[in-house]
Amino acid sequence: MTKSGSDFPVVGVVGGGQLARMMQQPAIALGVQLHVLADSRNDSASQVVHDVSVGDYRDLDTLRRFADNCDVLTFDHEHVPTDHLHALVDAGVTVRPGPDALVFAQDKGLMRDRLAVLGSPVPLWRHVHSADDVASFATDVGGWPVVIKATRGGYDGKGVWVVKDSGGAAEVLSHAQVPGFLVEQLVPFTRELSAMVARSPSGQAVAYPVVETLQVEGICREVYAPAPGISEDHAVEAQQAALRIAGELGVVGMLAVEMFDTPDGVMVNELAMRPHNSGHWGMDGAVTSQFENHLRAVLDLPLGDPTALAPFTVMVNILGGDLPDLYPAYLHCMARDPGLKIHVYGKTVKPGRKVGHVNVVGDDVDSLVERARHAAAYLRGDIDE
Ligand code: ADP
Repeated sequence: MTKSGSDFPVVGVVGGGQLARMMQQPAIALGVQLHVLADSRNDSASQVVHDVSVGDYRDLDTLRRFADNCDVLTFDHEHVPTDHLHALVDAGVTVRPGPDALVFAQDKGLMRDRLAVLGSPVPLWRHVHSADDVASFATDVGGWPVVIKATRGGYDGKGVWVVKDSGGAAEVLSHAQVPGFLVEQLVPFTRELSAMVARSPSGQAVAYPVVETLQVEGICREVYAPAPGISEDHAVEAQQAALRIAGELGVVGMLAVEMFDTPDGVMVNELAMRPHNSGHWGMDGAVTSQFENHLRAVLDLPLGDPTALAPFTVMVNILGGDLPDLYPAYLHCMARDPGLKIHVYGKTVKPGRKVGHVNVVGDDVDSLVERARHAAAYLRGDIDE
């Protein structure tokens, strides 16, 4: 018997953001119940999930009470304190991904250390405690600029600073309220890639097509699936790197491996152990979306086919702009382009905030980019025709 009282298990999702919200779609189809621990009744997922607990994910007692009503716990974000997750596991709660894996998505320093042991290519990097440490790293790698990163707590480029001299480094280190920093070389990448895989506790894993991501100021703007022009060898290299990381770290659920493409091959930049913005294209462009495969994986069900349904899918994020409400723009967008798939997150529109995305599926990547960009720009109020 499960916590739902029937054979169908209850999946607890810590965090009420858009990723939890989009898990609800396959949960409906599969008849699986979601229970969300959200910050408020207005959170993106709270609006669409029936069972919502409002509470602080940083409080262990809150997490324990939440877990009591769930068969398995998973995440919308990576900010739950690692110690709390260990305490839950010790108390018998099924946490997927488990804290021993998740910690490598929570702490960029631990992640870089571990990837070095695995032999995955990563940018040159070092832990730093002072501006002098940063300056000596810059000297060792051939000069400024370099990239300082908070080891924990960053997302969407928050916690990433490109600095061009010692003064800039000193300013970052003195102002940012974070537990630790690392510094790394500024990688002269040709483009950014993301390799996503799903892995179940039984060890089954599937790899999605490798995609290209366009990031502006640390925020993902657009995704092209698959990465245009990527050779079979190059894609397989990136997929195998992601599958290997998932297996070696014992990841359960979705894993996104964000990579830099360079003339000398790929370098791993960042790991995310949950559905990820670079996988949203698959909601309309793949046989099985990342949200469905995340649920299947955490429930240890056989994984779904990640194959693309068409030669290309383009995803463009809708970032908050001038319009306070997206709905009035639907008329124009839908009339102009019946093939457009709009996904909105129910979030208050604020400048630069991710409030939704559009997907377009088809054969010609350039025209898909034009259509998706037009819709996203129109929805945010940037253009009027
Ligand atoms: P976050 O965890 O906030 O997403 P990331 O480490 O993924 O931070 O960095 C965000 C973006 O900043 C990357 O997608 C990339 O565009 C840029 N970036 C990060 N590290 C480097 C680097 N070493 N060299 C060049 N660009 C970088």
